[in-house]
Amino acid sequence: MTLRDLPSIDGLLSSEAGAALRAEFGHTLAVDALRLEVDRTRAAMRQGLPLPAAPDLVAGARRWLRVQLAASLQPVINATGVILHTNLGRAVLSQDAQRAMLAAAAGYSTLEYDLSRGERGRRDDHLEPLLRQVTGAEAALVVNNNAAAVLLTLTALARRREVVISRSQLIEIGGGFRIPEVLAQSGARLVEVGTTNRTHRGDIEAALGEKTALLLRAHTSNFKLVGFTTVPSLTEMVELGRAAGVPVVDDLGSGALLDTLSFGLGHEPTVQESVQAGAALVAFSGDKLVGGPQAGIVVGQASLIEKLRKHPLARAVRADKVALAGLHATLLHYARGEAVDQVPVWRMIAMTADNLRRRAEGWAAELGRGTLVAARSTVGGGSLPEETLPTWALALESEHVSALAADLRQATPPVVGRVEGGRLLLDPRTVLPEQDEALLQALRNVLS
Ligand SMILES: *Cc1c(COP(=O)(O)O)cnc(C)c1O
Repeated sequence: MTLRDLPSIDGLLSSEAGAALRAEFGHTLAVDALRLEVDRTRAAMRQGLPLPAAPDLVAGARRWLRVQLAASLQPVINATGVILHTNLGRAVLSQDAQRAMLAAAAGYSTLEYDLSRGERGRRDDHLEPLLRQVTGAEAALVVNNNAAAVLLTLTALARRREVVISRSQLIEIGGGFRIPEVLAQSGARLVEVGTTNRTHRGDIEAALGEKTALLLRAHTSNFKLVGFTTVPSLTEMVELGRAAGVPVVDDLGSGALLDTLSFGLGHEPTVQESVQAGAALVAFSGDKLVGGPQAGIVVGQASLIEKLRKHPLARAVRADKVALAGLHATLLHYARGEAVDQVPVWRMIAMTADNLRRRAEGWAAELGRGTLVAARSTVGGGSLPEETLPTWALALESEHVSALAADLRQATPPVVGRVEGGRLLLDPRTVLPEQDEALLQALRNVLS
């Protein structure tokens, strides 16, 4: 067999296997993959390797195409017990939200159309009534995410002017969101007051002047400052702001609409509290504790919301129709008072340790492997730092626990657990009930 015996691309394409390859991937991709495979084989033959049979060449091309075209964004089973796992996509959406998003994706909609007048309508109008109802604010605007909401707010209201903020609130959220950098990007000038651990009313008062556009509070969503610390409350900031004619903007981050205290957690400030305290604008995420799709929500004074809406940046950070539809369905759960039952994030927060124990016991019984251990789940997603919820996890012992964790990550569907104390823990809190069977199957395959 010599290089001259290598089949031609046309020959391969017209073989039975080649026809199947074309049927699966289309002509262009099939030709590209076969060329690569033939080139690779030619190089291998020069190294003395034998000529493979034609169907094997086609099979090589097919393997390559499958790897190239596989979606890298794929569903996983989250057994980490971190409810708002940013790396795993934050909030799981309610059934109503999923249906609404599918409907918005599958057809035309009134996104920017007024049916009664047969004219152009406003994308912003769909969410405002519900957001007013749920948060008690006067007006609302929805953009792409909370980072965009904060950037838009600072740009539209404070460009070339000053923004006063406590040094303890110059926060960094994961993924490159840092308050000083967002401020710099907005063109506003940062005026930091107080010290890392203590900021007093007087510090803020002294900084307020002619050039002050805003007083900013940023929720320290992913860390806790303990010990000899103080910072003026939002109410105090609003008082100081009113005296100086300066609006207070509250970057709340997680945006709880329900009180986490009633679930045995610490208190996460709610949107309603910020509105009531008199914040002129409150910005928060759609996919953290709201439990909806990715979005940035700003609620507050109508005159300020109007300024944000009219700013050119608003067009660049607008929310997409699918997200708007999902957010609407999610907010309806709050308006109807059914969020704890219907919004998966709250359902997971509300699960009792007894229920979780029964589920983990069920897994252990089905598998005949593993032990039950008391563990802690976390809310995550930049909310309630240091706060945990009691849970029961299935613990798998192995001499090679990181290899076991890696094998489970490679399973179909992939399972992500948590390695703790030399064991692999699987926390039922974040595993959706309908995923139990798939989880057990993946475990059986990996453990056998
Ligand atoms: C999470 C968070 C943000 C960023 O929100 P995204 O929706 O991820 O863009 C901004 N500020 C605070 C305080 C946050 O917690």
